[in-house]
Amino acid sequence: TADTLAGTVALVTGASSGIGAATGRELARRGAAVVLVARREDRLRTLAADIEAEGGRAIALGADLTEQAQAIDAVERTVAELGRLDTVVNNAGVMLLGPILDAPTEEWDRMIDLNLRGLLYVSRAALPHLVAAADEGPRRVADLVNISSVAGRRATPMAGVYNLTKFGVNAFTEALRQEITQRHVRVSVVEPGAVTTELTDHLRPEIREPALRALADVENLHAEDIADGIAYIVTRPRRVAVNELLIRPTEQT
Ligand code: NDP
Repeated sequence: TADTLAGTVALVTGASSGIGAATGRELARRGAAVVLVARREDRLRTLAADIEAEGGRAIALGADLTEQAQAIDAVERTVAELGRLDTVVNNAGVMLLGPILDAPTEEWDRMIDLNLRGLLYVSRAALPHLVAAADEGPRRVADLVNISSVAGRRATPMAGVYNLTKFGVNAFTEALRQEITQRHVRVSVVEPGAVTTELTDHLRPEIREPALRALADVENLHAEDIADGIAYIVTRPRRVAVNELLIRPTEQT
């Protein structure tokens, strides 16, 4: 039903574009008050205004999640302003493909700093609030959803360090799930295939051309298709934990 998340608060990282923006919209439609986090605050403010125009509740919160202090602050400001935290979607991520031989190692650092460190900092800061929400919330269950990738299940040439980060996300998710699931904090991983977003904008041109050509004949997913899967996970009844969701475009092998 439309109001399944009524009375709950959701924090979505990487909400200024792509999957995160679509997820913010969808969770707001389901009744959650949403906190939109990313670096481009102008984008977040526009999205928050859109959501509020549709009758939802949204707050734009600028933060660079590779900075631990800013990640903690984003979580704490959410709870200070909205009083609780029931749902976290760790979506912010960067994919910088290329051969490992002679790689510019600053690209490795950017992926590790955001896809791993940023996700860890947000999770660490959010967990006590999620445990509290599961104890006292309207739904008596809380959700931490980590966005991994097909690249978190299958390693391929040109994706070595991206694979490293996403395999890491899958491993961390499963370990944390086992630690916390009996507190009714559900920990899930979503693994999208090719989705049309800004993700490939950050590839070096000599990498982007061949990477896009390889998927040229595939009808990509829309960001909304992944948001739909995330909404499915977080609206299940308290007894149901969807641990893992792998969503590929039909034409992607
Ligand atoms: P986008 O590039 O459209 O979105 C990435 C988001 O991350 C943006 O909102 C960006 O906002 C945010 N972000 C980047 N750096 C930081 C930072 N330092 N601190 C806070 N936020 C940051 O790509 P997608 O929507 O495609 O990507 C979302 C997730 O989905 C990623 O984890 C990606 O790995 C995963 N994924 C995507 C697939 C695809 O085909 N598109 C396939 C599989 C997984 P800003 O720049 O404003 O900070």
